[in-house]
Amino acid sequence: MDYESHFRNAIARLRSEGNYRIFADLERRAGEFPRASRHLAAGDGDVVRDVIVWCSNDYLGMGQHPAVIAAMEDAIRRSGVGAGGTRNISGTNHYHVLLERELADLHWKEAALIFTSGYISNEATLSTLARVLPRCIVYSDALNHASMIQGIRHSGAEKRIFRHNNVEHLAQLMADDDPESPKIVAFESIYSMDGDIAPIGEICAAAKRAGAMTYLDEVHAVGMYGAHGGGISERDGVMDQVTVIEGTLAKAFGVMGGYITGSAALVDTVRSFAPGFIFTTALPPAIAAAALTSVRHLKQSGAERERHQERAATLKHLLHEANLPVMDSASHIVPVLVGDPRLCKLASDELLDRYGIYIQPINHPTVPRGTERLRITPTPFHTDAMMRDLVAALREVWARLEITTRASAA
Ligand SMILES: *Cc1c(COP(=O)(O)O)cnc(C)c1O
Repeated sequence: MDYESHFRNAIARLRSEGNYRIFADLERRAGEFPRASRHLAAGDGDVVRDVIVWCSNDYLGMGQHPAVIAAMEDAIRRSGVGAGGTRNISGTNHYHVLLERELADLHWKEAALIFTSGYISNEATLSTLARVLPRCIVYSDALNHASMIQGIRHSGAEKRIFRHNNVEHLAQLMADDDPESPKIVAFESIYSMDGDIAPIGEICAAAKRAGAMTYLDEVHAVGMYGAHGGGISERDGVMDQVTVIEGTLAKAFGVMGGYITGSAALVDTVRSFAPGFIFTTALPPAIAAAALTSVRHLKQSGAERERHQERAATLKHLLHEANLPVMDSASHIVPVLVGDPRLCKLASDELLDRYGIYIQPINHPTVPRGTERLRITPTPFHTDAMMRDLVAALREVWARLEITTRASAA
């Protein structure tokens, strides 16, 4: 076997499809978000350019909040940098315990469990729950995140895929199965590529009628929706209807890590049986301390959420006015349709190279072919002037690359 040529061919295939990924080498600058320095390898050295980041999932800029930074610095001085072990073997630090209490309270649940990432929390929890329950069937929304899909797959349980946000289809699939089988309905609140929102209450009601439990990924909503940042389920007043609420500490909370919240017995089961929780070193205490401060801050402060919603609405309005093909979105996510993978990549490259505007192109397989897009995530720190510059740059790029605008697309 010629291993090297096999690897090179795999990459060449990806390149020819326009799906090869190139990372932007960014240096974030605390206190100046969303400004960052972009490093470019140039001949014998490094060229550094200023960019405005328009595609960060640090949705509220909490990654640079002074109180969050101070909490992390303080915890490092007190506890050092690493956790020192798995949660089971000397790795549980007091900050972990405090953070889990805070998260359980945020979602009105008895208990919470933190993981090293949101990805792991989904993978570990779904694979464990669906394995522990005998003859379990998992009902999964067609657009669920890869971490949930992997978790369901690893459980070995039977899986049914229901059409995206389609409660009738879900109910039908559950009705067709044995009423005695344990069932888990797995879905998200905000789907991050279109920015659309699930009918959580209706899905929970359908699940209840079929005797199913519910597993909700609120990754793109925690910190940002609801009076205390509990997510869409808090906003909609249905938090108590959901069996498990999962979230990340890495997006609106600005740090790193993932978590689940639920009943004491359920969380204890995952704690006791999930390899993805048991056999890995705990989050550093300083990460937990920073996340704790961020969660607490956003629990009592709604200013960031209000400004965030206002900024997203203002940008959508400006894009509409400029006749740019902004896609309908019920949330803070602002997708702009390109509809072609090569043009999408080209548009993104031009924005970055000519205008210092960084928006990652979103192509297949992340979104269906023909719906390639630029996914813009305005934050409370994006100013009116930045928005005007963005819209002007998009108009120029759209004209130069002859990308279809809303009027001609319709
Ligand atoms: C980002 C994301 C995750 C994973 O969270 P991380 O903390 O980044 O690992 C899980 N679910 C969805 C829907 C996501 O977009």
